[in-house]
Amino acid sequence: MRSSSSPHPTLHNLRHLNLKKGDIQAKFSYETKKHIRNLVMEVGAQTRKQLLQKKIKLGWLICKIDDYVVANRCFKCSRFNHKFRDCRGEETCPLCARSHNLKECTATPMEYKCLNCLTYNKHNQNKKKVCDNHSSLDRNCPSLQAVLEKYRQNMDY
Ligand SMILES: [Zn+2]
Ligand SMILES: [Zn+2]
Ligand SMILES: [Zn+2]
Repeated sequence: MRSSSSPHPTLHNLRHLNLKKGDIQAKFSYETKKHIRNLVMEVGAQTRKQLLQKKIKLGWLICKIDDYVVANRCFKCSRFNHKFRDCRGEETCPLCARSHNLKECTATPMEYKCLNCLTYNKHNQNKKKVCDNHSSLDRNCPSLQAVLEKYRQNMDY
């Protein structure tokens, strides 16, 4: 963290939390479809606990603090937990799970297949099957949810 630059307006407002220097870093901000502005920050484990316990006041706005977790999804093979660079898998379409590029895909939503859920079902035949009729880009994908849940658990040290 650079100390010479003027403090980020948001971080400035977080001063009263007695944060350790370098423990919090603004990553990026985005706006949701409902026009809610979100600021994503990277924080240490201790700070995270502190933040999750309180609401933070920024000017007139009361901010809700929540975990923002992103899953690493490879855009070549559509599997999780590695990046394209490290991919040793086959090119797999994130929409229909066939072996072609996303741009070449002609599948309709009815034909979407999620590779990760497909694989899950194959490996867990004695468990309840998850729905695999969605693209692997789907935010509600059960496999994605499972990956995110694992990330969250790992953060709780
Ligand atoms: Zn891959
Ligand atoms: Zn496809
Ligand atoms: Zn899925």
